[in-house]
Amino acid sequence: MAITKKQSAALAKQVFEYAPAPESIDHVKIQPRYGLFIGGKMVEPHSKKHFPTINPATEKKLAEVAEADEIDVDRAVKAAGKAFESWSHLAPSQRSRYLFRISRILQERARELAVVETMDGGKPIKESRDVDIPLSAAHFFYYAGWADKLEWAFPNRKPRPLGVAGQVIPWNFPLLMLAWKIAPALAAGNTVVLKPAETTPLSAMLFADICMQAELPPGVVNIVTGAGKTGSLVVSHPGVKKVAFTGSTEVGKLIQKQLAGSGKKLTLELGGKAANIVFGDAPLDQAVEGIVNGIYFNQGHVCCAGSRLLVQESIAEPLMEKLKRRLSTLRLGDPLDKNTDIGAINSRAQLEKIQGLVESGIQEGAELYQPECQLPEKGFWFPPTLFTNVSQSYRIAREEIFGPVLSVLTFRTPAEAVEKANNTPYGLSAGVWTDKGSRILWMAEHLRAGVVWANTFNRFDPTSPFGGYKESGFGREGGIHGLAPYLDLN
Ligand code: NDP
Repeated sequence: MAITKKQSAALAKQVFEYAPAPESIDHVKIQPRYGLFIGGKMVEPHSKKHFPTINPATEKKLAEVAEADEIDVDRAVKAAGKAFESWSHLAPSQRSRYLFRISRILQERARELAVVETMDGGKPIKESRDVDIPLSAAHFFYYAGWADKLEWAFPNRKPRPLGVAGQVIPWNFPLLMLAWKIAPALAAGNTVVLKPAETTPLSAMLFADICMQAELPPGVVNIVTGAGKTGSLVVSHPGVKKVAFTGSTEVGKLIQKQLAGSGKKLTLELGGKAANIVFGDAPLDQAVEGIVNGIYFNQGHVCCAGSRLLVQESIAEPLMEKLKRRLSTLRLGDPLDKNTDIGAINSRAQLEKIQGLVESGIQEGAELYQPECQLPEKGFWFPPTLFTNVSQSYRIAREEIFGPVLSVLTFRTPAEAVEKANNTPYGLSAGVWTDKGSRILWMAEHLRAGVVWANTFNRFDPTSPFGGYKESGFGREGGIHGLAPYLDLN
């Protein structure tokens, strides 16, 4: 733990100077104002209200987006209900064709989507280009393959679609969360009403255009933008038979209460406070890359982020040294620059939440380390942050920060690592770094986490189910498991 701030500044100067490499935005046409996507076309909102969506890296307005009210949501659910009659009876191979078509268009328009995702959300272009958009296309491609094989997926059952699915998604992976929700719902024969997050609605607006380009029958997908109130109207509408929500545990609990006794099917994908556990026999350089990817990827706005680093005591010192050295080389700045590692924080509100929790960490006695880094003057930014001397009772070790902030704790034995890792109300993900296969299996068996990565972190694949235990929610998305919540299997 020997690196000081001064040494870190010296290190930062030693790394290569990169020339700016901004992605061009000429090919992207963001409209000044968007309506709602209902019944296969863009319509004016009944509310007559719009709100701005800004670029968090510049604070400049990108567009105005409609705020859907009760009547708008009702129109969307009715359009989805009407479309369900024919969509659910369409030959499954025809449904597959539409999904394959959407997947292909997502690939064709990948560059445009990546730029819009980065401008609206603040994430580095290399992430939206290499992760968000390709994975979104892969989800449609994967579920297109299931649409005509449901009876093989659930043998001896008679899988039937449920009706209209109401889906509410967050701002950290806007298009990818849309794909996680819409692809399995459509493959199973349902129609949807989706509400994107208030701060990141633009890729969903582009997706509406893609639905039109794919000539998807009107009403199969409806997109209503707005704030939390609009989300609440979607999930509580009596015409909605299935609710899928990704977001905070707080709102997830509210929705669960709201739906109690309604007979609606519900899946919740909520927060996390994952432990990334490094044993003494782990390949340390590889582990450092995994730790960085685990917590600084997407500015830490990741529900399964490895936000608690548990390090075996014997290697704590060399590992911290390597980690601090690596932090000094991370490039923070223009998210559209292809060399940027850390982009902008999604919103002012999220930045204030991160600042508040970091302040609490300092007050409670943890030791803060931030590499020397210049924050741009405009926009919302937070440097990569590392806390050592963290006790399990500190807020930074218990609460989801959802920012680029890592809390480091130590352990001596595998049993202690498991005890500490499971000592959280969440249970979404975990990581294990060790040379021993048997230890990986033992740990995976004992960790109460929906996903356990071994010698890697934050790897996603449409064929693999994802979801949590405890306050991280219930239900699985991805894989064959992701179809079940959209089907009546009785
Ligand atoms: P929210 O849970 O408030 O937002 C998620 C989505 O739900 C958004 O579309 C939001 O709309 C909508 N929403 C808000 N209130 C309601 C409601 N009563 N009924 C139905 N839908 C609603 O998360 P925040 O954006 O406020 O983020 C707060 C914290 O949540 C973060 O700091 C982070 O810790 C956690 N979080 C976790 C995520 C995860 O993937 N597990 C994702 C996002 C946040 P709107 O955008 O307009 O508020």
